[in-house]
Amino acid sequence: MPKLLCVYCSSSDRLDPKYTAAAEELGRELVARGWGLVYGGGKTGLMGALARAVKSRGGRVVGVIPQFMKARELAYDEADELVTVVTMRERKLLMETRADAFVALPGGFGTLEEIMEILTLRQLDVVKKPCVFFNQDGFYNDLLRLFERMLAEKFCKPSNLELFRVATTVPDIFAQIEAARNVPTESKWFQTR
Ligand code: AMP
Repeated sequence: MPKLLCVYCSSSDRLDPKYTAAAEELGRELVARGWGLVYGGGKTGLMGALARAVKSRGGRVVGVIPQFMKARELAYDEADELVTVVTMRERKLLMETRADAFVALPGGFGTLEEIMEILTLRQLDVVKKPCVFFNQDGFYNDLLRLFERMLAEKFCKPSNLELFRVATTVPDIFAQIEAARNVPTESKWFQTR
């Protein structure tokens, strides 16, 4: 079984085609590099584009989708494995457990919520796997600035900003995953001083 890259990304069908193109590039690249995909199991937006690109190159797609979304015909039925769960929380847990690394492509509330949960678990040392933001065209710049402010005003520690890496191109996503693997970040959250 290939290692699985968990990708969080937009479900919107109304995006600039540059975002779809990058999601498709990621799908092709991850297969070429021996990865499979685990994701939210959707057929819309970047999620669908990504999954179809993985399948088009013969890669493995694992989708995890809540029943209520499946019932609304939002599921990518061609997935090699389509796991149906009841709640969004179960879905996130399953994706997190199955994944070997996490990537956030540009996205909305859902994407942000999912990747922030991984960072929260990383800061508590519950999750230790690589976590990468794909900062396509500076999409995440404002969020990264907010993180800097959190640090400056001591809402988080310097080590928090080592819990994730930022990639600017699709090949760079894989370079950042490898870099994160080679330098395991250590959470210091529980040290008092
Ligand atoms: P958003 O970034 O708000 O578009 O939400 C995308 C993320 O939330 C994905 O990673 C999914 O896990 C989940 N999600 C939101 N909408 C859908 C949908 N229509 N179909 C499947 N998953 C969705």
